[in-house]
Amino acid sequence: MRETVPMDSQKEFTSGITPPAERTEPAWWFAFQQDKLLVRTESSQLSLPCLIHFGELGLIPLCQHYLGHLEGRHCFAVEVGEEAKPPAEMTFEGLRQVHGRLDEDLFWIAARAVQIVEWDKTHQFCGRCGVRMNTRPTERAKECPRCGLLHFPRLAPAIIVLIERGKQLLLARSKRFATGMYSVLAGFVEPGESLEEAVEREIREEVGLNVKEIRYFGSQPWPFPHSLMIGFTSTYAGGEISIDASEIETAGWFTVDNLPALPGKISIARKLIDAFIAKHSHEAAFSRHRG
Ligand SMILES: [Zn+2]
Repeated sequence: MRETVPMDSQKEFTSGITPPAERTEPAWWFAFQQDKLLVRTESSQLSLPCLIHFGELGLIPLCQHYLGHLEGRHCFAVEVGEEAKPPAEMTFEGLRQVHGRLDEDLFWIAARAVQIVEWDKTHQFCGRCGVRMNTRPTERAKECPRCGLLHFPRLAPAIIVLIERGKQLLLARSKRFATGMYSVLAGFVEPGESLEEAVEREIREEVGLNVKEIRYFGSQPWPFPHSLMIGFTSTYAGGEISIDASEIETAGWFTVDNLPALPGKISIARKLIDAFIAKHSHEAAFSRHRG
């Protein structure tokens, strides 16, 4: 079973580094104040500024990055200062808050844009010798003019895994979750680890179980702030649930008939759980029918 996540994208985005030399058509502008995106709010469906020059909004960008084009329409990321006021009928909103209200394709480009702006802002100086970094014109990288150190945009890979035991799946509650919400297990990959080793370690550490049949499910960029979620399914192979209380509040086995509150549709966690539900709801309906 494999899904391309985000799977709701319809249009084709082509990533790029070098902006077009001449441009007479308006472009999409992904403007961030800290991690909040500038959105148009004229209607219930949010939109983005589509202009030839960002300056038409009366805002001064601190930096500008070319992102590529969405079916021919160029896309730029910019950052504005904390003092910038949104123009009329626009506001700055967190990415999680705009999901579902902004076109899905634009949302996932915004997820790229926020990470590039953040990387640029936090990698101005060489981590080894402290001098100001140069931005490479032809690749997304910064280079130290003194010692040659290269910095690429930061990505933190994290595994996320669904554990299946017959008709049941394991769900757990982290202390950070909203009240009543449960999800599948997730954790960052450590240096030197394969993804499969990370899956086994996270499950052992967080709930004390062993698993087998670890299979790739799909992946999803997760710009909060710069993760790449790599999803897996697995099958229970032994052990009793024993939670790591510093990470997990409670964990248990659930069937499709008695699920708790689940994560939002934006997340690969939910796509993993929905795939499990789709696989097992037929059996559940059948057994309900039979009483
Ligand atoms: Zn250096």
